Amino acid sequence: MPTENSARLARTPSPARRAEPAPLYAVWEITLACDLGCRHCGSRAGPKRETELTTAECLDVVAQMRDLGFKEVTLIGGEAYLREDWDVIARAITDAGMVCGITTGGRAFTDERVARAVDAGVTAISVSIDGLERTHDAQRGVKGAFASALDAARRIAASPIRLSFNTQINRLSLPELPALATLAVETGALAWQIQLTVPMGRGADRPGLILQPYELVELFPLLAWLKTNRLEPAGVQVFPGNNIGYFGPWESLLRYGGRNGAHWNGCGAGKWCMGFEADGKIKACPSLPSDQYTGGYLQSDRLGEVIAGAVEVTHLRNRTRDDLWGYCATCHYADVCKAGCTWTSHCILGRAGNNPYCIHRALEFEARGERERLVFRDAAPGRPFDFGRYDLVVEPLPAEAPPADTLAGRSLATLLALPPSSTGLWSEAELRGVLASARSGRELPVLAETE
Ligand code: SF4
Ligand code: SF4
Repeated sequence: MPTENSARLARTPSPARRAEPAPLYAVWEITLACDLGCRHCGSRAGPKRETELTTAECLDVVAQMRDLGFKEVTLIGGEAYLREDWDVIARAITDAGMVCGITTGGRAFTDERVARAVDAGVTAISVSIDGLERTHDAQRGVKGAFASALDAARRIAASPIRLSFNTQINRLSLPELPALATLAVETGALAWQIQLTVPMGRGADRPGLILQPYELVELFPLLAWLKTNRLEPAGVQVFPGNNIGYFGPWESLLRYGGRNGAHWNGCGAGKWCMGFEADGKIKACPSLPSDQYTGGYLQSDRLGEVIAGAVEVTHLRNRTRDDLWGYCATCHYADVCKAGCTWTSHCILGRAGNNPYCIHRALEFEARGERERLVFRDAAPGRPFDFGRYDLVVEPLPAEAPPADTLAGRSLATLLALPPSSTGLWSEAELRGVLASARSGRELPVLAETE
């Protein structure tokens, strides 16, 4: 998923370009092959797709992006490095004058692969770290995944490439965020990208994993504290993902590098960013559900024509308040916000335009003694980028609300002192309970040993 722009990123639209939206940034799944088995993976990665683009087709896509004025491309998978020509594609991107980054689970980002990335001109690599050791391994489905990812991060930090951490925020990782922030600093990361886990793909199979909307009221002050006290003093930038919003008391602090008056400007799908799947699907954002948002295919359509004319793309670019529904349609910020992240709202309620994952909204409900709770209703069918369905319940705040200084029932003082060398907060049984699949009863995650 694209993360929050900052003035330092090539993907940030200039004032002139803002007047006439045109994509600057692409997130490109170059293969669905993966060496991890993440329990929250939206694309259900594992084996490669049957019809992935050839090298020649990929190089043609690079040329099209260059001609259309794209500035930045992030290669993802699956695991991008499992395509033998991943660095050929990266080299073509940088030769074309675009910035190239990679997002990786880091299971096998070896010295040799780091050297190939450096040679290809890759300037940034983001390594996924979703909790302390036990928590990360359980979510990533492989014992030893945490140790491998940390090794990869250290290799990258020692190279000329800029290292970022990226972290899924969910029921398991939330209490471990303070320790992960410290880990990012100790490992030499220059940025920390964070996003809420969305119930898509294998994440949709695990409703116990996602946060409830009312828990944002605990999350946001913690993020603000970590940014101000732990990360910024150490030179680590915080990039909140596009589903961490919107408005409310922490908006300026958390967004766009904390510039005074900075605020969310609405979903950039089709305006500033595009996403491609490895089998050629063209979407306005890489995270969007494939069935509803595929506007064309890289093998048969010209990218510029899809951006300009496919309704699956142009509709997102041209939305107004009239496209919103539910609480968002009534919101003070609706004209600018347009219900936040399209991907997130669509995957929860089956239709974009009404987004309960919003701190402004959660605080409004809290002020009148209520909260919104998501109730799992339908399982996802089991395809890449699919989603299930939740009902949204409004209920009174519980009489015995947890004291304000706790996070997921644990004392904040304890969490802030949790060292990054610990294995995690959760017992094996707790992890298995949260990660159990709704599609097959109480199916337990199977952890494979690292080879
Ligand atoms: S309630 Fe909806 S429209 Fe209003 S700020 Fe939140 S997400 Fe945006
Ligand atoms: S749907 Fe929009 S806001 Fe959400 S990740 Fe994609 S571009 Fe960003």
